[in-house]
Amino acid sequence: MTDANCLFCKIIAGKIPSRKVHEDDHVFAFHDIAPWAPVHFLIIPKLHIPSMAHLAPEHAGLMGHMMTLAPKLAQQEGCNPYPDGGFRIVVNNGAEGGQEVHHLHMHVMGGPRPWLRG
Ligand code: ADP
Repeated sequence: MTDANCLFCKIIAGKIPSRKVHEDDHVFAFHDIAPWAPVHFLIIPKLHIPSMAHLAPEHAGLMGHMMTLAPKLAQQEGCNPYPDGGFRIVVNNGAEGGQEVHHLHMHVMGGPRPWLRG
């Protein structure tokens, strides 16, 4: 299921250009257009799920896939390995959670400090 008006659905479909990091049958990953960190990309499901508030039990495998991809892609994109290197994952949900694009996405951020706040 996709949403014709969704920015990230358009990116998955190639209607809006992006710098792709990874693609498989279930997820798409691409560099954030306004990075907060030396490495900053987004992992998104191909399925249009607006936020984590919309997750159902059948999405558990998909979310697990996104989580297990994150460290592999972080290292592929230049984050140093754990434990001296590392990365941060952020998922904003809803207006009060700071979500602006309503297609579930996992921010993966890393690289040498100082970029980390808090
Ligand atoms: P916030 O903007 O507060 O981080 P979100 O968690 O909804 O809210 O994140 C949306 C992210 O999508 C932002 O980091 C933004 O820079 C990124 N973004 C918006 N448009 C594009 C685009 N065309 N290509 C890549 N990243 C984008």
